Amino acid sequence: TKKIEKALAEERCFWSFEYFPPKTETGVINLYDRMERMYALGPEFIDVTWNAGGSSSDVTMQVCTTAQSVYGLETCMHLTCTNMPREKIDIALRDAKAAGIQNILALRGDPPRGQENWTKCETGFSYARDLVKYIREEYGDYFCIGVAGYPEGHTENPDKEEDMQHLKAKVDAGANYIVTQLFYDVDLFLDWEKQCRAIGIDIPILPGIMPIQSYGGFKRMTTLCKTFVPKEILDDLEPIKDDDKAVKEYGVKLAVKMCNTMKDAGIRGFHFYTLNLERSTRLILEGLGFVAPIELARPLPWNPSLAKNRE
Ligand code: FAD
Repeated sequence: TKKIEKALAEERCFWSFEYFPPKTETGVINLYDRMERMYALGPEFIDVTWNAGGSSSDVTMQVCTTAQSVYGLETCMHLTCTNMPREKIDIALRDAKAAGIQNILALRGDPPRGQENWTKCETGFSYARDLVKYIREEYGDYFCIGVAGYPEGHTENPDKEEDMQHLKAKVDAGANYIVTQLFYDVDLFLDWEKQCRAIGIDIPILPGIMPIQSYGGFKRMTTLCKTFVPKEILDDLEPIKDDDKAVKEYGVKLAVKMCNTMKDAGIRGFHFYTLNLERSTRLILEGLGFVAPIELARPLPWNPSLAKNRE
């Protein structure tokens, strides 16, 4: 059994980290450094987003390959249908398999930058469901396949029930798990999860948690994704919005509270949108008691055998 599938089947809490491909070589090196340190936080898997076209998808492939083969992190590569003719999808899947990557998050993808509506490319796919189906046809059970879910409905589809049926279609096509869009209203997520179960979606659903890192970033992201933000959160942020440190601290506390509420409701897997940052995610995991707080630096004991025990 592949590692993600195994975790999904077990009765314990687990967590995963999402990264995006950096734009520069220095950015990539910094990301490797972070991934290496965040390995100690015990993510069940990590995943890397995919921006179709150009060098960005090469960077996704490169980062995924390194994470899997050098750092030994169970890696999931995002793959989208945007600007991806069949041949390019074939190459991406072939290269992923050759790099030992066994997990794909199958997505339709966002429209390319500057384009408002999504259009299918010739010989490509129209919906994530078609990509899931294709991967199953071509690779059988080799890949563990994740798909995206939208607790507030997908922005392009005003009919939430229909959108949920489309999610069910992705599951029926062979998806193994669902990762959700970010949200800040836990009740809304739990209601949606219940409805998913009611229509027969029976695979694990991992809530996507985006720790608030800055007021500006939070506003931009929630506007872009049309995320509902409870008034209480806006009220809490208003007096501290210009104090980055206070906003970050609040973001950690809020995420811990959200995860604890979900844990009490029986959710076991938590997916963190890290934005390639380490600190907030680490503090949240500490706050949840999932990892021990980092030890305060102390000098190594002079006795070499004691030093060995500490390793
Ligand atoms: P789909 O499930 O195909 O749905 C797209 C739309 O079509 C929805 O409105 C749905 O209701 C509708 N629909 C589905 N099936 C049918 C049908 N048969 N007939 C009519 N309508 C239908 N984007 C990136 O570009 N790169 C990434 O790496 C990336 N990672 C993401 C990770 C997560 C966890 C999430 C939640 C989103 C991510 N996205 C990413 C964004 C995603 O690509 C967009 O939200 C995109 O608009 C929808 O992708 P999807 O896979 O959910 O599409």
